[in-house]
Amino acid sequence: MWTVASYVLRQKLAGRKQYPLVLMLEPLFRCNLACAGCGKIQYPAHILKKDLSPEECFRAVDECGAPMVSIPGGEPLMHPQIDKIVEGLVARKKYIYLCTNALLLKEKIDLFQPSKYLTFSVHLDGQREEHDLAVCREGGYDIAVDAVKEALKRGFRVTTNTTLFDGASPKSVRAFFDEMMDLGVEGMMLSPGYSYDKAPDQKHFLGRARTRRMFRAILSNRKKTWQFNLSPLFLEFLMGKRTYPCTPWGMPTYNVFGWQKPCYLLQDGYAETFKELLETTEWQNYGTESGNPACANCMVHSGYEASAVNATFSSLAGFLATVKATLSTSYKDEEALRTLEEPQAPVNPLIQIAPTQNASHSLQETRA
Ligand code: SF4
Repeated sequence: MWTVASYVLRQKLAGRKQYPLVLMLEPLFRCNLACAGCGKIQYPAHILKKDLSPEECFRAVDECGAPMVSIPGGEPLMHPQIDKIVEGLVARKKYIYLCTNALLLKEKIDLFQPSKYLTFSVHLDGQREEHDLAVCREGGYDIAVDAVKEALKRGFRVTTNTTLFDGASPKSVRAFFDEMMDLGVEGMMLSPGYSYDKAPDQKHFLGRARTRRMFRAILSNRKKTWQFNLSPLFLEFLMGKRTYPCTPWGMPTYNVFGWQKPCYLLQDGYAETFKELLETTEWQNYGTESGNPACANCMVHSGYEASAVNATFSSLAGFLATVKATLSTSYKDEEALRTLEEPQAPVNPLIQIAPTQNASHSLQETRA
């Protein structure tokens, strides 16, 4: 927290309007899962075979200068030199979130050394049934939980990252939080899913109004034991208590194509350098307020958490709101309690992955 706070304050004092907070470094797109809500693994085989070299990763990290590096993918543990990449980033004192589905974590754990700079951010989308359904893999939850226990036993930092889609049961998500805290993970990260055109399952993406309702049910009447690895103002944003413009430059993405314009989710071209990304992207064309239909329903972490962090450090009111949100975490809400008791739709059967028939789908709750 101190590293992030001092970094943001330095950017503010230097008068920088656009500064990166987290670099999303995708060293490959290959994965050992085929999740229904994922838009990353639908590339042709010759792209899926590509890897960023450790040197390419270091160049991007040095060029960008963000204090934190998130390594998603694909599945980063399938990268043949992931240990070298992590080693080089630890040497640079970057806080690394290695985002893994943990299927290979036990097998590869000897490649890594515990460090305050390295956190395994384990992808778990809810309790056993919900997670296995989301990742289209029976037994995925048990393997991941087993790997979390092993990593914790060996002294690694472990957090979870959870993407929620329409139909998620708030009650079950809350029970999942209890399970994760009992396991001993350090914190939990949450985000609504983004409606990738390439994702095989196009039916279960949330609109903004439904996102707020669902997160209000989940995050109100909060237990003291729950620890989130997110800005408290971003959680309030998800609950509908705050609105923010998107900050796509806050979490820039570098992958085998280069610097992705404008964000982790959209692909409106690529830049060769980070400077070129900042200078040539038409940022005004993105975010909910821009009227861009691709942004209309988006409330994802990679677009809006940097907005929440920026709000904390942009004014005294933002700073005091963060302090208040950190100290008074219960968010008592009777209506949210009633929402928890609403009947839930039955869990759907596992989705069969097939090529996407119709890439453009209708947006249901545009700018709700
Ligand atoms: S609103 Fe979402 S999709 Fe649009 S630029 Fe921001 S993060 Fe990307």
